[in-house]
Amino acid sequence: MVSPASSPPRELLAWFDRHARDLPWRRRRDPYAIWLSEIMLQQTRVEVVIPYWERFLSRFPTVEELAAAGVEEVLALWSGLGYYRRARQLHAAAREVVAAGAFPRTLEGWLALPGIGPYTAAAVASIAFGVVTPVLDGNVERVLSRRLALADSPKVSTARRRLLDEGAALLDPSRPGDGNQALMELGATLCLPRRPKCLLCPLAAGCRAGTAGTAESYPVAKPKRATEKRRLLVAVVERGAEVLLFRRAEDSALLAGTWELPWAEAESGGPAEPALAARYGGAWTLGPRLAEVRHGITFRDLEVAVHRAEVAGVQRAEAGWFDAAGRARLALSSLVGKVLGCLSPASSPAASAPPARRFRSRRPG
Ligand code: SF4
Repeated sequence: MVSPASSPPRELLAWFDRHARDLPWRRRRDPYAIWLSEIMLQQTRVEVVIPYWERFLSRFPTVEELAAAGVEEVLALWSGLGYYRRARQLHAAAREVVAAGAFPRTLEGWLALPGIGPYTAAAVASIAFGVVTPVLDGNVERVLSRRLALADSPKVSTARRRLLDEGAALLDPSRPGDGNQALMELGATLCLPRRPKCLLCPLAAGCRAGTAGTAESYPVAKPKRATEKRRLLVAVVERGAEVLLFRRAEDSALLAGTWELPWAEAESGGPAEPALAARYGGAWTLGPRLAEVRHGITFRDLEVAVHRAEVAGVQRAEAGWFDAAGRARLALSSLVGKVLGCLSPASSPAASAPPARRFRSRRPG
């Protein structure tokens, strides 16, 4: 069996010295330029980032100039790069750095700044300040999971710890920033998700999955949560062309603030009226079943019995009657659209669209 090396293999840095892509931030040693590149590279490809990074640095060449700018100008320069929260946090962090008088020099110091997570803190601290600390991004997770033939997903905390230990063992203390970048580069250019180029890899001698020819089986995916089946009853209360909807509370765990049709659990098979009254108030009378709808939401598989209903005495601010035009302006859960779409054209928000066949076949009459 192949054993991962216990001391950093010299081949990794030698390979990086020969093959590293010439990226503009790799020509700079100042923490500001490196930090900016790491923030921009989150969820964004290198080719997209390069012109933004160059423009940003030419407008704000120092952290002091970034801190002195208004956030609107920072956002304008960020425009098109997406994930604008990154720009706001970058700007807030720049102000903290300027107020402190210097960039942090430790992992903990970087972690304390807005918008800096464990990966970014380790990357900037190691590259800009030589802190010997391993990074773990998607590319490095893949390389190290294969190297160890790790049986658990990197999303599992114990597996993550092992990957960090292995990443630390691969770092040469005299060049930790280059060691981390070498692993990232390896993942981006050779240890690809499909068809990794193991024959060219500087870590091939110590790689268990590469040696076994099973590299593509790693990293192991996080086990999927089992699907949970639930039966619900949805009540459609109509007033002419309008339908009664309720707004979910802002602190709801799911679909907070969206509008929904009144619903109740239907697992027990007992009368649903008391459950509807408990949830929404008023006195409910359930009418005939109109349709049966299947709906998937996260890990739940919902079987929904749609009933016509009447209600009296609902007095809640977060309830309202909406016709198709009114509903088009609301944030509706997708289940609402599906249920109304299978009812009469008058109730449907997509009144001109024909109802789905499987729903029509289940409607009475
Ligand atoms: S030998 Fe293959 S699987 Fe292993 S790290 Fe190198 S490229 Fe990845």
